[in-house]
Amino acid sequence: MNAAQPIVLHARGDTELARRLRKAVAGSVLFDAASRGRYSTDASIYQIEPLGVLVPSNDDDVAAAMDVCRELRVPVLARGAGSSQCGQTVGAALVIDHSKHIRRVLDFDRDAMTVTVEPGLVLDALNAYLRPHGLWFPVDVSTSAQATLGGMAGNNSCGSRSIAYGNMVHNVCAIDARLADGTTARFGTAAEMAGAPPRVRELVGRLAAIGARERDAIEANVPKVMRRVGGYNVDVFHPQSERPYTRDGTLNYAHLLVGSEGTLAWTRSLTLQLARLPAHRALGVVNFPSLYRAMECAQSIVKLAPSAVELVDRTMIGLARGNPAFRPIVDGALIGEPEAILLTEFIGDSSDAPARKLDDLVALMADLGLPGSVVRMTDAGAQKALWDVRKAGLNIMMSMRGDGKPVSFIEDCAVPLEHLAQYVDRLTQVFAKHGTRGTWYAHASVGTLHVRPILDMRRDGAAKMRAIAEEASAMVREYKGAYSGEHGDGLVRSEWVAWQFGPRLARAFDEVKDLFDPDRLMNPGKIVRPTKMDDASLFRYPPGYRTLPLATALDWSAWNVDNDPVTDTLTAPGTGGDPAGGFAKAVEMCNNNGHCRKFDAGTMCPSYRVTRDEEHLTRGRANTLRLALAGRFGDDFASEPVRAALDLCVSCKGCRRDCPTGVDMAKMKIEFLYHWQRAHGLPLKDRAIASMPRWAPWAARLPWLANLRDTMPGAAQLSEAIAGLSAKRTLPRFRRDAFLRDGALPQDSAADAVLFVDTFTNYFEPDNARAALDVLQAAGYRVHVARPSAQDAEPSRPLCCGRTFLAGGLVDDAKREARRMLAALGPHVERGATVVGLEPSCLLTLRDEFLSMGFGEAAQRLSQQALLVEEFLARESRAGRLRLPLARLPQKRALVHGHCHQKAFDAIAPTLAVLKLVPDLAVDAIESSCCGMAGSFGYEAAHYDVSMRMAELALLPAVRAAAADTLIVADGTSCRHQIADGTRANGRRQAMHAVQVLARAVRAARSNEGATR
Ligand SMILES: Cc1cc2nc3c(=O)[nH]c(=O)nc-3n(C[C@H](O)[C@H](O)[C@H](O)COP(=O)(O)OP(=O)(O)OC[C@H]3O[C@@H](n4cnc5c(N)ncnc54)[C@H](O)[C@@H]3O)c2cc1C
Ligand code: SF4
Ligand code: SF4
Repeated sequence: MNAAQPIVLHARGDTELARRLRKAVAGSVLFDAASRGRYSTDASIYQIEPLGVLVPSNDDDVAAAMDVCRELRVPVLARGAGSSQCGQTVGAALVIDHSKHIRRVLDFDRDAMTVTVEPGLVLDALNAYLRPHGLWFPVDVSTSAQATLGGMAGNNSCGSRSIAYGNMVHNVCAIDARLADGTTARFGTAAEMAGAPPRVRELVGRLAAIGARERDAIEANVPKVMRRVGGYNVDVFHPQSERPYTRDGTLNYAHLLVGSEGTLAWTRSLTLQLARLPAHRALGVVNFPSLYRAMECAQSIVKLAPSAVELVDRTMIGLARGNPAFRPIVDGALIGEPEAILLTEFIGDSSDAPARKLDDLVALMADLGLPGSVVRMTDAGAQKALWDVRKAGLNIMMSMRGDGKPVSFIEDCAVPLEHLAQYVDRLTQVFAKHGTRGTWYAHASVGTLHVRPILDMRRDGAAKMRAIAEEASAMVREYKGAYSGEHGDGLVRSEWVAWQFGPRLARAFDEVKDLFDPDRLMNPGKIVRPTKMDDASLFRYPPGYRTLPLATALDWSAWNVDNDPVTDTLTAPGTGGDPAGGFAKAVEMCNNNGHCRKFDAGTMCPSYRVTRDEEHLTRGRANTLRLALAGRFGDDFASEPVRAALDLCVSCKGCRRDCPTGVDMAKMKIEFLYHWQRAHGLPLKDRAIASMPRWAPWAARLPWLANLRDTMPGAAQLSEAIAGLSAKRTLPRFRRDAFLRDGALPQDSAADAVLFVDTFTNYFEPDNARAALDVLQAAGYRVHVARPSAQDAEPSRPLCCGRTFLAGGLVDDAKREARRMLAALGPHVERGATVVGLEPSCLLTLRDEFLSMGFGEAAQRLSQQALLVEEFLARESRAGRLRLPLARLPQKRALVHGHCHQKAFDAIAPTLAVLKLVPDLAVDAIESSCCGMAGSFGYEAAHYDVSMRMAELALLPAVRAAAADTLIVADGTSCRHQIADGTRANGRRQAMHAVQVLARAVRAARSNEGATR
């Protein structure tokens, strides 16, 4: 076998590998086309299908799998979050994903400030663990919410504050590794290596000999900048980095493994050096008249010893100011109209030290000819808000529509600070020459400015990539910088390793690889013996990339556009040439950055939070859809792998809000289900649930019959056996006194507020609608209760937003309902009335899906005037118009769980705001994701467990911990049901709609008034 070539097994070999693995390991062995497809990409432009995937249960599984692979001569590829930008984690190998199970903290020494962790632990999870001890691991990569410590070590990752703390290599004390031949050893200091097994002692001796032999080549060719992460760290033997790898200058063999991209050994655990959490921070925002001046001044600013100096250029400032939420924050940091700003952070143990540094910064800028250019920010909240804007600016840039995308290949070249200004200037001209442009941001402190030129890899992107790379690399060489200063080599830059380090060191790297991994089974093709960066056969979107034609049910034309990289303009909707009408391009917005793996606040992604499976992750779903549209599962888009991947998506719309590129999986699921039900039909149970608005009026007339399932012994079990509805659930109960059957509901053609009462509120909880009417009228508003228009074909059937039809993929039926709504509400909208609703998932359909149904202006106008009742009241309150008499309640605290759609549309803050109008009521939001009920999802026997586990992540523990007299508030019908079900065993808690709390306070005010009369 030629060891240089990646090994590709034929079908029989795959089967043999899978069979052997299934016998040897307890973890999941995934060899189906969809799983392999989901692991064929990372955050790079590449795509290579792995031979198979193993999600090991523990380290023994990894050992057993590596044994099998060795025997079958199959390559092994370690993977954490797969957020690498250079293609490090794609390859024709057995991919071993350690992020699900291998993520424990093994040891923590508070005094020594060290921690030993398994490779799958995520940085944010580690820092959450350390925070109570006043410590943190300070390599603060932007992907901290998903990046694993194993992956960070693999790539020698670097954070925004590397000027103060260094890269991974400066913070790893030891690595417990497994070599390809199965030998395990702890790689650390020379003294630690003395106790290693003979195979490793011999290895170390030969490595040292290479180090000694190559001393002059190391000194001549390893860039002296701190931000150098390419090649192997052979400079451990003769330190070249401007920041020494170890504090005492001694040799640490773990540092040879750091940055080796899984090509030398498997990392079993890592011992990390921790830092104290800074007690105080201050931020100075320096405003510059030109990007050039900003870059020129960076070298002087770093002499003040800041902990970060981050650039935000004019384009990003503009993008951020375009967002109403960010505008005031950005404006607070600007002086006039700067072309660039540098966010300069100082830290210290007392508040004085950073404040003094800010004074120094102000004085320095005056000396440099820019007096009055610094905005001082000492308030922690303001600082955090600005850092968030800096992150969001990048996200906006990445959400560019069209086939031209910002491509990462020279994104992290590092040049010495004295050359930074010239480098930026010249590279900008190079981009212009090649008909593109880039937006500059990030780490000015260490000469690593991020920039991604916009290229279309389906057309001429590869040629431009090569041409720009050649010119950029020539400049990097001229300035004695590092071609890879942060993101590593992978597929895009391994070709450049020999160029950067010279032929002698490249040969030495080959020797290093052979000493560790003579059979070349560890992540072949990275760092040594690489493929070409522009080998189009490895691209995710190669030239000529085509997708299946699809007649979509929803309107995706806004994505079906082309962009002009120079002018930053988009062509008209529908002109992008997507045979799937823009749906394929919407799916392709996922760039695999993996942010949906986060576990912090926010909603995205509840099913992943429960399963930790790539399949049940927004990214996994987008990739599955992309593969289906590319015909990888056959000619039929409505294929089983997509159905399976979407099965646990609860359509919470968390991704719509939290995904940096706005991937809206809930909407994509509707589109898919439309095609699925047309191809495969809809089971009777799903059809019955979807069409509930049509039969609900009859059920309400005979509620005893409709509710029989929960009153007749054995009926629930029967419903599980026949219809798949979980017997562990009760169903919502139909009420005879449906709100819309009330006799004298206000009908007012000049009303301020048009109350839309949805199916759930009307039939299951009509008292909520009565409470809303009471509150609105108590505040003095004229209210009209929405009814079907006079021309409606079913004038006696209540209006409906179509949500249940959408959930079943019955888009045509949903459109019929939407038309009825538009006909009934249109005249009120035309005269400026506000449409007010109670159930978030129903009301917000008017602001979301209605806009994708082809109703044009009418739907647009309705969407702009449709508000949840609390949003309406909060708006009125902000405008100083709200006159709502509210008195204090016996309860002193309200705990609010926001419905996912409420959160996705930023509609939770108004709920909190209006509840706070109740005198002496303390109002807190529960940091929860989806409640897990999600329409009919949680009622289904097949989903019951997942549903309850979602609720147990945060919501139910918070509710159980609340004092008995705390009001539990939840606007969603299903959320309230889930809370009641989930607390059944411990003194059932009944949550209420926010408007019920307000109605109680109104009644209290009335009775106070009555008492004083
Ligand atoms: C939007 C965005 C922003 C980013 N920002 C930064 C940033 O600020 N700083 C930065 O440095 N990087 C950044 N990156 C790159 C990337 O997120 C980091 O390199 C991250 O640390 C990778 O972690 P991961 O868990 O995704 O590793 P993966 O991508 O899964 O793996 C990284 C490498 O480590 C190897 N590896 C993983 N586990 C093991 C193991 N157990 N044994 C041996 N080898 C292993 C893999 O084979 C691979 O070569 C960014 C990427 C994106 C998409
Ligand atoms: S779905 Fe969004 S957050 Fe997840 S990887 Fe794709 S782009 Fe990133
Ligand atoms: S809609 Fe919710 S469950 Fe579905 S992918 Fe998005 S975040 Fe995950």
